[in-house]
Amino acid sequence: MAMANETVTLLRYAKLPGLGWRRGQAIIGKNGKVSPDYMFLGKGKSKRKTHAPEGHYVLRHFDGRLPRYKKLGNDPSEALDELQRAKSELKFKNSGKAIGYILPSPVSVKRKLLAEYGREFLEQKRSPSLKLAPDTVKLYTVIVEEFVRVCGKSIPEDITEADVIRYCDGLDRRYSDGVRARRYTSLRGFLFYCGLEPKRLITPSVHKRLKSYEKKKVRIYSGVELTALLAVCDTYHHALFMVALLSGLRDDELAHLLWQQVDFEANVIRLASYEILHKGKTIRLVLKDREARDIPLFPLLRDELLRLRELRPKAVFVLGTKNDLPNVKILYALKSKARKAGLNCGFCRGCASRNECHRFHVHYFRSSFASYALKAQKDIRKVMDWMGHSDLETLAQYIGAADNCPAWLTNLYVLPDSNSKSEEAMPSSLVFPESSKKPTK
Ligand SMILES: [Zn+2]
Repeated sequence: MAMANETVTLLRYAKLPGLGWRRGQAIIGKNGKVSPDYMFLGKGKSKRKTHAPEGHYVLRHFDGRLPRYKKLGNDPSEALDELQRAKSELKFKNSGKAIGYILPSPVSVKRKLLAEYGREFLEQKRSPSLKLAPDTVKLYTVIVEEFVRVCGKSIPEDITEADVIRYCDGLDRRYSDGVRARRYTSLRGFLFYCGLEPKRLITPSVHKRLKSYEKKKVRIYSGVELTALLAVCDTYHHALFMVALLSGLRDDELAHLLWQQVDFEANVIRLASYEILHKGKTIRLVLKDREARDIPLFPLLRDELLRLRELRPKAVFVLGTKNDLPNVKILYALKSKARKAGLNCGFCRGCASRNECHRFHVHYFRSSFASYALKAQKDIRKVMDWMGHSDLETLAQYIGAADNCPAWLTNLYVLPDSNSKSEEAMPSSLVFPESSKKPTK
């Protein structure tokens, strides 16, 4: 005969409208999973499935005839894990008692592995209903996979504060403080998922250090710098830097931009990942997050591109080298033109060691684009689309960066009114030839 203390039951404790707080059996479906937010209410024939979203799970076992309850969270799969764990613990205890052993408590049972928690956590983050940006999901993946590897612990219970510090130290060696701070915060979310309490695990002073970072100001090129830089450029480099400034493309996107992607008719650059065969080589562009985007041809950008197209009518790459291959030395070109324009600061480490000023970087054209375009545009979402950002938060850092800049700079990012476009004549080849209109007999 089964003794009362041989069973553990998973219950749900929830507040029901008109009834108050009630306990009811959790519902485990045919797939073996706990169905979230529902419980059974009543007994026998009056037993019915009840929607009970406001509540959490509870484990019940009997100490003699006394029911004992253990509070669990509101995560159905975690609750099920707890149930399985408690069942095997109890089974072990009872079998020991039956043959007269006194077993040390708590009994060691097979615990869920950290790697399993990691897989489940990421699966949850990927679920469509959470609507997380691809960037965010990717970041979680990097963090969880790296932490699981670096900490070297197989079950969450063994994780210590030292593991977290070691992980953050590793980040500090490779990235900025901001990256470390953000990843540390996300890691806490994962640790919480594993059933740990980050607040208890990490002492307040350590937490304060790990989450803090100095917010760097966005660097954008000023009107004076741009004027001086462009003044020392030949046609090609003029176009290169103007396209960078007026399109906001990333380094590799600039290098790999195809003429095929420039649509003069629709007045846009249609940026998309690609793989082409060119001069016997496979050349590919993989966009961040694989997100294609359209960037408008602002009047000056359009002029610059039209001029360049005239110069290189047969080229495949817009900003390619003389041999029509992706220019991988854009940064080098920028540094040398800045030097030539007398723009080097003269006292940074770059200036001191290689005569290449740290104040000039291809990426700052992108920052400039975002800042000036934001100032010129009322619709922030448009700028977000042009930048290829999946969330507004990333763009926020550029708001206000272009305050007090000369008006001519922001005006570069204004599209002519579409209504003022002159009526263009239909190409003659579209019209059905006059002769064939004649009825055939
Ligand atoms: Zn410098």
